[in-house]
Amino acid sequence: MIAYFDGRFMPKDDICIRPDDRGFLFSDSLYEVIRYYPGRLFRPEAHIRRLNHGARHLALSCKDFSFLIPVVRDLISQNHLESQDALVYIHVTRGCAPRNHPFPVPDPEPTLYVCVSPFDPSARERSRHTGIHAITVPDIRWSRCDMKTTGLTANVLANQQAAENGAAEAIFVRDGVLMEGTHSNFMAVFDNIVTTAPLSNYILGGITRETVLEICQKSDILTSESPIYENRIHLASELMITGTTTEVTPIVALNGRPVGNGKPGPTARALQAAYADLTSL
Ligand code: PMP
Repeated sequence: MIAYFDGRFMPKDDICIRPDDRGFLFSDSLYEVIRYYPGRLFRPEAHIRRLNHGARHLALSCKDFSFLIPVVRDLISQNHLESQDALVYIHVTRGCAPRNHPFPVPDPEPTLYVCVSPFDPSARERSRHTGIHAITVPDIRWSRCDMKTTGLTANVLANQQAAENGAAEAIFVRDGVLMEGTHSNFMAVFDNIVTTAPLSNYILGGITRETVLEICQKSDILTSESPIYENRIHLASELMITGTTTEVTPIVALNGRPVGNGKPGPTARALQAAYADLTSL
């Protein structure tokens, strides 16, 4: 596969990451994952906006990564993926410098890595059809979850815990409130109102979350961006996660207890259909 690294297109296998890269040493770095549907890159501008948000808050020397959109399109065609499903991965680090916590002076050149890979959506489609099991875990992450940094230790540990419990996702609980999943946002339906955590420093502003809220608005489905309390979760008729690869996936059991009648509900089905309309040409 051809990838993009520090301003050049080159075979992915030829790329060398230097050991003094601050992304490697400190996770002083940001990433994005963008979905490519046959013939269509899905909302690249929104992903770049989120990357720019992180870059501003990390005070990276580069604060506008919109030049990457043509790079991504170029990679799709160089790798002959135009008519396939694919995933785009973007990784930006502060750059290389001898290991020391403060920002290096002068600013190093950020390290930039972009790759694309074919994506087989069939397993995700099955999960969307059947629904998934999820567990809740304490949110041990830091307080800047709005930045998509590569510091994902807590997410990795929580998702592993889910896997060991036969679940596909873990939902982080902070101070009695269900925030989001390890790689997804979280939504619950209470009295026909699609409810999701409000944007804050404690969750990632998901592009799929934003898209689903837009769909709700257009389809006259009521929404509420408000806290989802752990002690009220049994009152939800439906639960779901949203994300670039998961799209809209119903949760049919939480901590081993069925959600509603234990089957994907009508709101999830309606949102899935509307989402599929947006992603198909
Ligand atoms: N929250 C977290 C922690 C995530 O890792 C992701 C996946 N990027 C999301 C939410 C969903 O974001 P998006 O819809 O942009 O994929």
